[in-house]
Amino acid sequence: MGKFAGRRALVTGAGAGIGRALVIKLVEMGAEVFALSKTAANLESLKAECPGVKTICVDLSDWTKTREAVQKIIPIHLLVNNAAFASVGPFLTASPEVFDHMFSVNVKAVMNVSQVVTGDLVARKQRGTVVNVSSQAGQRALVDHAIYCPTKGALDMLTKVMALELGPKGIRVNAVAPTVVLTALGRIGWSDPAKAGPMLARIPQGRFAEVEDVVNAIVYLLSDESDMVNGHILPVDGGFLAA
Ligand code: NDP
Repeated sequence: MGKFAGRRALVTGAGAGIGRALVIKLVEMGAEVFALSKTAANLESLKAECPGVKTICVDLSDWTKTREAVQKIIPIHLLVNNAAFASVGPFLTASPEVFDHMFSVNVKAVMNVSQVVTGDLVARKQRGTVVNVSSQAGQRALVDHAIYCPTKGALDMLTKVMALELGPKGIRVNAVAPTVVLTALGRIGWSDPAKAGPMLARIPQGRFAEVEDVVNAIVYLLSDESDMVNGHILPVDGGFLAA
């Protein structure tokens, strides 16, 4: 029997990249997994690859539709707020529309989904764990990331406040802070060797993270093995944040 047998899990941003790999891992570990994302074709191919998965197609920037969709699948004991939107560009031309959208997906939706999931657990007097997927960009300024960095800084602080308020109710809340992973999102900022080279030079282990590196850290924070870890932002960065 898997480590997460009998537990219900929700992963947002599950159509691609880290979220998709995490869904497959959690199914292997015995959880009943709900995969939420916004592009139906990605969810269909995930279901074909991993038939046990249940899928939810919703755009997290829609507060009401997201809330309704999540309310239909509670209780959820293991929540991973992984979805994010990223775009890069100079501070001087950053637009209010992109600012609002990025904060809506990367921060506000985390509050929304987490309120539904953890509010329900509190009402049921059940335990649970939440992992937010943040970034090294929440703790270090990066050129051309004038909106993305602040979304992750805000997510780190949201994580800590949630940990303070929900810890006494039996719900742990932590985050992971990966360095670059060359998923579709990672390639937006780092596919240019002129940018990737200097970033690699700042990572003591000399490589970007693999999807599996991040998945393993999330699984640890979801599991009872991290039972005394709460309100922590775990770097998965090869040492980038140590400098
Ligand atoms: P990907 O771009 O590979 O995947 C992101 C997933 O999120 C996609 O499935 C996408 O949906 C989904 N998504 C995006 N916006 C929405 C939305 N509005 N509503 C619902 N789903 C949405 O990204 P990664 O796997 O690289 O990123 C996962 C997390 O890791 C993010 O929080 C990111 O900030 C963080 N991170 C990534 C790093 C990297 O270098 N890659 C480094 C540090 C942190 P769909 O496919 O259905 O369109």
